[in-house]
Amino acid sequence: MKKLLCVLLSLVLCMSVPVVAFAEDTCNCGNAPVVLVHGFGSPMYTVNEDGSQGALVSLTTQEIFALVPAVAEALGKLTFGDDVGFAKAVKGIADDIAANLYCNPDGTSVAEIAVGPNTPADPAIHLRAYNEVNPDGGDYETVYTFHQDWRLDPTATADLLDAYIQEIKAATGHNKVVLMAHSQGNNIATSYLAEYGTDDIEKVIFTSPAYQGLRLVGQLYTRDISIEGKASALTSFLDTFMRLNADQQTIVNLVGVLDESGILDMVVGALDLFLDSTLDALYTYVLIDMFATMPGIWGFVPDEYYEEAKAVMLQNEEYAAIIPVIDEYHYGVQTRLPEILAGLEADGIPFYIVAGYGIDPIPVYEDAVFQSDMLIDTDYMSIGATCAKSGEQLSYEGDTLPAYFSADLMVDASTCLYPDRTWFLKYQGHLDMCKAYKDFIAWLISTEAQANVFDNETYPQFLQCNVHDAFEVVTEPEVKDERSYFIRLFESIIAFFKNAIAKLFEGFGK
Ligand SMILES: [Zn+2]
Repeated sequence: MKKLLCVLLSLVLCMSVPVVAFAEDTCNCGNAPVVLVHGFGSPMYTVNEDGSQGALVSLTTQEIFALVPAVAEALGKLTFGDDVGFAKAVKGIADDIAANLYCNPDGTSVAEIAVGPNTPADPAIHLRAYNEVNPDGGDYETVYTFHQDWRLDPTATADLLDAYIQEIKAATGHNKVVLMAHSQGNNIATSYLAEYGTDDIEKVIFTSPAYQGLRLVGQLYTRDISIEGKASALTSFLDTFMRLNADQQTIVNLVGVLDESGILDMVVGALDLFLDSTLDALYTYVLIDMFATMPGIWGFVPDEYYEEAKAVMLQNEEYAAIIPVIDEYHYGVQTRLPEILAGLEADGIPFYIVAGYGIDPIPVYEDAVFQSDMLIDTDYMSIGATCAKSGEQLSYEGDTLPAYFSADLMVDASTCLYPDRTWFLKYQGHLDMCKAYKDFIAWLISTEAQANVFDNETYPQFLQCNVHDAFEVVTEPEVKDERSYFIRLFESIIAFFKNAIAKLFEGFGK
């Protein structure tokens, strides 16, 4: 009987194997299609009953006006020091605007939400040279972008990614794809690798990865937010974040002047007082209710914060169902990252890690001193680099710069899990995919075997974007501008007028 059951079962299994659609021809172009897993912020829509799409967050002019009484009520409560009343009023406004974003206690979406669309499986796309189109940055146009609902469980989204990879393989006539991911997309990509392995994968490129989380979210989820005395840290954050953009430097200098004159300190102090008294109420009545049930956001909580964050955010019994969902990603993927990468190595799949550095973190918590790409911490992205704290430099023994040590004394990559495969891009903001960046990624895509940080003189381990046209090799420590921001602001105003006058004359000349 048992045997018969086995035979029957295997028959059923055989019949249920999906018929894989193959392209008419196998493509011999030699370039595997690149599937890019998009990070946080893919386009999302509600699906109406008739199948049409609606806006995810509803805010027409009429709706904004309709909110005025609610906002006035909230501000009234705030003025009279009624923190709970204020928080409840804010929750009411959030319910009006963003109800479509809410998740059920099991981490699924309340509303029916559509994402994307993904790049169509048009074979022509993978035949273009990777960096040939859209040299000025912006979205990628030569890859197959997979969009994802940032709220949801990465391990569930990985199944949708697999379906998309099968579609791209079939349409392009390739039996493997290059898997590339950005930011939160890396949480999906690592979930995919943990579940599906490497059979369909030629190479993996992890860019600005969130696979180890962010301190910012760890601090938020452990209720450890504070901006007390952070005026100078804010200036330093803006200064490092906006370093590459001459226009934005005026703003930085203005903030620097406010900092030096003590005004910024007063503003931050007032905000901090407000936060101190209302934060508890905001957590209880707004933030926990909105975010505790989003497994995708839980994926941003680093391991060192994770259990404490659960204790803080999920006290209420009604959230019990979310725990197994978020634990599956956290303990099945995030903390198993070394195993997942070792699996790639064992299967001979080249992989690369690309992380930004040199930008101070957003200073809204104690000890916000870890280098970042303005959002994600460099030590997390690179899996273990030793980074100088904000405003400091590392030192080394002996006379010559050790291998894996950045010449600007900001990063020691020798402590990385894969120091040979990890690149560092100075001042490259989290979302800044300029021409220089794309050229670099194009090189990573073009490598046949596993390349390392010593292979290409143009692309050693530590690079810095200049004016987005090409990367420079990092060769020396930064010379810090120690002048007063008053002088720097004056300088940028002069530069602004010089520029404006020059443009005016250019206009007359035409
Ligand atoms: Zn091809």
